[in-house]
Amino acid sequence: MITDDAKANFEKKYVVNRFTGCWNWTAGITSDGYGVFGAKMEDGAIKTYRAHRFSFEIYKSEIPEGMMVLHECDNRKCVNPDHLIVGSHVDNMNGVSSSIAEQEEKFQDNLKWIIDNTRLNNRKKAIRFALMVLRSVVSTEHLQRYAQML
Ligand SMILES: [Zn+2]
Repeated sequence: MITDDAKANFEKKYVVNRFTGCWNWTAGITSDGYGVFGAKMEDGAIKTYRAHRFSFEIYKSEIPEGMMVLHECDNRKCVNPDHLIVGSHVDNMNGVSSSIAEQEEKFQDNLKWIIDNTRLNNRKKAIRFALMVLRSVVSTEHLQRYAQML
C-alpha cells in the first residue's frame, strides 16, 4: 500500500510549468529521461517507481499488469496525471495518432497484445483500460460494441 507520507513526499518533487501545465520532476531522472521516485511503503520498505507511474496510481488508478503509462505531452519528466494515459507497448511504439480510424486500428492491436501478454484474471481490467484510452475519440456506439467483448 502507498502511504500518505509517500504521497506528501512525491508532491514536493515537481514544479508546475504554467505554460504547458506539465509537472516537471525535479528529483532523480533515469538515463532514458523519466523521473524516479522511492516511495516508502506501509511496511517501511522503499519501493522504486517511475515517477509518472506513481502519479498515475495515486491520482487515477492502479495500472493493470502489462500496461504502460504514456505521456500525451511527450515530456518524460512530466508527472501531471492529466497528461498521462494508459496504453500498451503497441501505443508506445506507434506514438499518439489522431484519427478515429487510426485509434480503432490501434485498439484492435492493443486487444491482441493484451490477450497475448496478460494473465486471464487481469485481462478484463486491461481491456477496460484500453477502452478508457479510446473514450475521448470514438462514439458511444463504438464503445458499446467493444464493451460487448468484455
Ligand atoms: Zn505534461
